[in-house]
Amino acid sequence: MNGSGPARRPQTTIFTRMSALAQRHAAVNLGQGFPDESGPARIVEAAAAAMRAGHNQYPPLAGIPQLRQAISEHQRHWYGLEPDPGEGVVVTAGATEAIAAALLALVEPGDEVIAFEPFYDSYKAGVEMAGGVLVPVRLEAPDYRPDLERLRSAVTDRTRLLLVNTPHNPTGTVFDRAELEAIAALAVERDLLVVTDEVYEHLVFAGREHVPLAGLDGMWDRTVTISSAGKTFSLTGWKIGWATGPAALVGRVAAVKQYLSFASGTPFQHGIVEALASGEKYYRGFAASYERRRDLMVAGLADLGFTVREPEGTYFVTTGIESFGVEDGMAFCLELPERCGVVAIPTQVFYADGDVPRPEVRFTFCKPEPVLEEGLARLRKGLRGQ
Ligand code: PMP
Ligand code: GLN
Repeated sequence: MNGSGPARRPQTTIFTRMSALAQRHAAVNLGQGFPDESGPARIVEAAAAAMRAGHNQYPPLAGIPQLRQAISEHQRHWYGLEPDPGEGVVVTAGATEAIAAALLALVEPGDEVIAFEPFYDSYKAGVEMAGGVLVPVRLEAPDYRPDLERLRSAVTDRTRLLLVNTPHNPTGTVFDRAELEAIAALAVERDLLVVTDEVYEHLVFAGREHVPLAGLDGMWDRTVTISSAGKTFSLTGWKIGWATGPAALVGRVAAVKQYLSFASGTPFQHGIVEALASGEKYYRGFAASYERRRDLMVAGLADLGFTVREPEGTYFVTTGIESFGVEDGMAFCLELPERCGVVAIPTQVFYADGDVPRPEVRFTFCKPEPVLEEGLARLRKGLRGQ
C-alpha cells in the first residue's frame, strides 16, 4: 500500500460484517454495541411530539439552541465545564461525525496523531482521510493501562494531536485522574491539541470516576471533547452526538461539518433535550443496570475459559482466547456464529497493523440479561460441548 489510490479506501467495518453474520445465522449478537431495548419512553415521545409539531426541516448547522444549551448545562452539572452554548457546542451526526470533523479540521497532511491502541476503528480512517499518520501507543494486556513513558517517547516534532478515549472501547479501561493529569501535562509541555472521545462517560462502574481531560490544568483551550446520546440513552440509531470546547476549536469542527452532513436529526435533537433533562437518578440507574450485566458476563466468560479482565466502564469486555488453542481472533469470530450461534468482535481490527499481542475477542453486554444468559449457554455448548 502506498498510501494513495484505491488501497486507502476505507474497508467495510467489522461491525457491519459481524452484524450481517449475526443475521445470517440468527446468532446472539454480542458484537456491534447497540442495546436491544430503546431508551426511555418519555424521550422517544419527545421526539415523536417534535415530529408532530412540525420540527421536520433542517436544524441550524450547530444544532437547535435548546440542545446546545442542554449540552452546555450537562457539562457544567457533571464536570464544572462551561462550553459557550453559542460557539462552544456543535451537534453532530453521532460521535462518529464529530470525530471525523475534528480530525479533518485539526490535522494537516503529514501530521502525526497519537492514539492509544487498541482504538475505535473510525480513528484510523479519520486520521487517514485527513492525510495524517496515526501513531499507536499500546495499552498492554492484561491491564490495558496507559504507559506514560511510552506515550512521551511517541511524541515527535510532527505530532499534532493526541486522540484519547476514556472510558475506553474496547478494553473497558477508565483512565484515572493521575493518568489523565500526566497526559495533560505532556500535551501542555509539547503544545499538542487533544481530541477526547467520552461517549461512555456515564458508563463507569463502582469505584471509578469519569474525569474529562478538558477540565485539567492547561487543557481547555487545546481540547475538543466529544460525546454522544446514543450510548447514554440507548438510542444509537438517532445519531445525535456533539463536540464541545473553546469557540476557536469548535468553530473549526463546525466549519468542516458543513460539508459532511451539514446538519441532521431535528426531531431527535428535540428528544435529546428531554433526555439531558434526566435527573441523576436516571444516570445512576443506567450505570447500575450495566454493572450487573458486566458481572454476569465476566463471571460467565471466565467460567468458560476466556481470560477476562473486568472492565471498569463501557459495555464491552475484551477477553483472551488462548485457552481455546486459537491463534487468530478473526478466524475464531468468523467461525463462532456457525459453531455457537454467537457473534463477537475480533479486537485485531482495533490495532494499527492488525498485529495483536495475543488473540482477543470483544463481547458486548448491552443486551438484556436473558439474552446474555442465552449467549453464554450457546458458547458453553459450542465451545465446551456441555
Ligand atoms: N467512539 C467510540 C469509542 C464508540 O464506541 C462509538 C460507537 N459505539 C463511537 C465513538 C460512535 O458513536 P456514535 O454512534 O454516536 O456515532
Ligand atoms: N461503537 C459501536 C461498537 O464499538 C459500533 C458502532 C458502529 O457500528 N460503527 O460496537
